[in-house]
Amino acid sequence: MADFARPRGTYDIKPSETPAWQAVEDLARTLFSHYHFEEMRTPIFEHTEVFERGVGDTSDIVQKEMYTFVTRGEKSVTLRPEGTAGVVRAFVENKLYGGPLPAKLWYLGPMFRYEAPQAGRNRQFHQYGVEVIGSSDPRVDAEVIELGARFLLEAGVADARLELNSVGCPVCRAAHRAALIAHLAPIRGSLCADCQGRFEKNPLRILDCKKDRDRPEVKSSPRITEYLCADCQTQYSAVKHNLDVLGVSYVEDSTLVRGLDYYTQTTFEFVDDRIGAKSTLLAGGRYNGLVEQLGGPDMPGIGFAGGVERLLLARAVQEEEEGAAKIDAYIVTFGSDLTIFDASLRVLSLLRKAGVTADLDYAGRGVKAQMKTADRLGARVAVLLGDEEVANGAVTLRDLMTKEQNQVSEDACVEAVLALLSR
Ligand code: ATP
Ligand code: MG
Repeated sequence: MADFARPRGTYDIKPSETPAWQAVEDLARTLFSHYHFEEMRTPIFEHTEVFERGVGDTSDIVQKEMYTFVTRGEKSVTLRPEGTAGVVRAFVENKLYGGPLPAKLWYLGPMFRYEAPQAGRNRQFHQYGVEVIGSSDPRVDAEVIELGARFLLEAGVADARLELNSVGCPVCRAAHRAALIAHLAPIRGSLCADCQGRFEKNPLRILDCKKDRDRPEVKSSPRITEYLCADCQTQYSAVKHNLDVLGVSYVEDSTLVRGLDYYTQTTFEFVDDRIGAKSTLLAGGRYNGLVEQLGGPDMPGIGFAGGVERLLLARAVQEEEEGAAKIDAYIVTFGSDLTIFDASLRVLSLLRKAGVTADLDYAGRGVKAQMKTADRLGARVAVLLGDEEVANGAVTLRDLMTKEQNQVSEDACVEAVLALLSR
């Protein structure tokens, strides 16, 4: 039987969906040119060594995710798994380093990775991205990061979290590498096969390995930030200062390594936990060694790439949340005792009579799930009812904003909730 279905990990963008895509494409065009970036279009396939060199041969992408093939006895080519390597290759090949610097380039288009498909992870997906090549000024780092934040915001994703780190330069990395190898040596034998391979070559990658990164021994590894040389420390402080000047808030995460050899100094990710396991919307960093790696002059660079699919996913989740009617109070019951159920009905009715929008879970779900629902519904207060409360003829009120909680008698419940709501 002929198989006419589309390949796994691909999808059709139907006419009802294209307007959302066009909006993202329009935003890229207008916002990036507003920041004085110019579009660069490169081939969808490159010689395989562009990615081996340009992405790094210890990376997951090169080790197992590339679509590589040989056409009619010619050289091996690979469908591009990301945009940076091709853009930098084109920058070098077209001698753009002879033009005005820094070069500020953006791109948008399909990328290809052989991965296990799931929501937010496809085999053909789309990335938008920018690269600034030819400046190591920490104001450029801040500009690129602020542009990423602005892009997500204007695309309609309100609260992605910015995680920031510095992975140093080859000088500080050598010291960290030695410490890392010493620290991980005792568990070397039990690391995953990939990490065994990376152990000597690029142990920093182990911190980023999906299989091993959550192991306590890996988590307690020496942090790269403790090994930064004076130059990298100065750069990192300046980047943070510039982000403060621009009003971009961030959380530092010393485990954030985008572990390619030529990645240097600034690394960052914008994360939105609401879209599930695949939560990174946009990621980037400085790559001061890459231009030279790809045959160009020794020239610094920095950039980011974001996934269009994940962006649209995040926006859909957010629109759903915003669309959902908000409530004031959510009743959370511990246990299924009849007396608890009776109390929950009484309290619910009292609150509603007092004009408080309230609801409760009838699906018999666990406390954690009920608390999650309370959050999702935007409740200000959770009314907790369990054995202890019922025995005391009381309820526990949890202010979901301040996380304070206290017990009040059932009779005083309505007044206490109203007081909380009017704060
Ligand atoms: P992950 O940890 O999710 O595997 P990654 O480190 O491989 O991400 P990058 O190479 O940094 O991702 O790509 C930048 C962005 O491109 C990601 O943050 C994500 O939004 C998007 N992206 C990467 N791989 C895929 C994919 N297979 N399907 C859809 N989007 C993707
Ligand atoms: Mg990946």
